[in-house]
Amino acid sequence: MPDRKNKTELLIIGGGVIGVSIAYHCAEAGIDVVLLEKDQFGTATTSQTARAFRTYFPKKVHDSELAVRSLPEFRSFAGKTGTDIGLADLGLLTCLTSPEQAAEIEALLPAHRDVGVKLDLLTPAQAHEYNPWLDPATIEGAVWSPECYRVKPEMLVKGYADAARKLGARLLNETTVTGLNARTGEVTTTAGDFTADAIVIAAGPWSGDVAELAGMELPVWGQFAELLHTDPLADHEIDTPFTFHPVSGLKTMGMGKSFLVGLERISKQEGMRDIWFKAAVEELPKWYPNLDDIELHSAWTGTLDVTPTKSALIGRGEGEHERILFAGGFTGHGLAHAPTAGRIVRDLHRGDDPGVDLTPFSLATSSEHTPA
Ligand SMILES: Cc1cc2nc3c(=O)[nH]c(=O)nc-3n(C[C@H](O)[C@H](O)[C@H](O)COP(=O)(O)OP(=O)(O)OC[C@H]3O[C@@H](n4cnc5c(N)ncnc54)[C@H](O)[C@@H]3O)c2cc1C
Repeated sequence: MPDRKNKTELLIIGGGVIGVSIAYHCAEAGIDVVLLEKDQFGTATTSQTARAFRTYFPKKVHDSELAVRSLPEFRSFAGKTGTDIGLADLGLLTCLTSPEQAAEIEALLPAHRDVGVKLDLLTPAQAHEYNPWLDPATIEGAVWSPECYRVKPEMLVKGYADAARKLGARLLNETTVTGLNARTGEVTTTAGDFTADAIVIAAGPWSGDVAELAGMELPVWGQFAELLHTDPLADHEIDTPFTFHPVSGLKTMGMGKSFLVGLERISKQEGMRDIWFKAAVEELPKWYPNLDDIELHSAWTGTLDVTPTKSALIGRGEGEHERILFAGGFTGHGLAHAPTAGRIVRDLHRGDDPGVDLTPFSLATSSEHTPA
């Protein structure tokens, strides 16, 4: 029999950046909230990021739209929550490396601008001015997106969590959810049982596993991811923008006197670590010929939160799972989407219009895609 004090209107599972944002936005709206985190807040995927917040996702206007809607909250975060998230200009340079790819990306620029993304099309020479390490001869041009920032995820989590608590939310760490009954709203945990009118699954890469506890299929899983760094390249801090080559997935940004190097390769294939490292070693000198003999080292590894569409799943379960809301599988954009995701879940819970088309984030859309 659940303890009466463990009754709540909304129970959130997962205390990463997404869960604490939902807790804050719901508590702010006067909803009685309990959040359960199996470890410490913000220490899973949220602690493994490249610490970048961008508003431009070249081939996914819907992902850009969520990020653009997050931006005002990032800018006003200290005023709202009392916590400084260290927002600092970075900028995003998306390199166009073939005429076909340039045409594809340019065709989508009006749609991105329509949802509020600020973008400029650059010549190779102009791109070289933004990132002098690039070889302009290797690119057709680039897209410059100024609204890309460095951010401190740990402060984002702290700010949301502190503010949610002040608003009356109960946030419990070291509490693992071990059972879920979607029909009755009963939630079994290592710290006793709870009952909730609504349950939100915001368990990052483990969202699929948590949904399974309620017999619900939610195609979100964890994939190994690694960030690499070069040897020092200069005797001063490198302040080049976040530079992205969409065809190869290569991403670089300054990290102290080195480059931080990432690869956007999503696959369930075995041995991804070796494949990833080999590809990064091959790709880097293609676009940065001066880095031909530079060594790459592991910076840190993480678990990426992946879905079949490589965009998040945000919505409500159906039939016997109607009590369950979900927001997981942000596939590398969770920081950028956290503020908007928190507000969307609040609106879905209250039956309000979230003001954004959720079709690209739906289970129906994800079922049309085969996992990579
Ligand atoms: C290498 C790497 C670089 C990245 N770089 C960026 C970047 O620069 N910018 C960006 O926007 N995004 C980036 N991301 C993606 C970003 O980290 C994620 O999208 C985001 O952190 C997801 O947040 P979350 O709250 O959904 O997940 P998490 O932070 O993983 O939180 C989920 C929480 O659920 C808890 N949990 C799981 N199961 C249970 C259970 N049964 N009971 C209770 N609690 C449970 C976990 O302990 C965890 O704390 C990167 C990811 C990786 C791996």
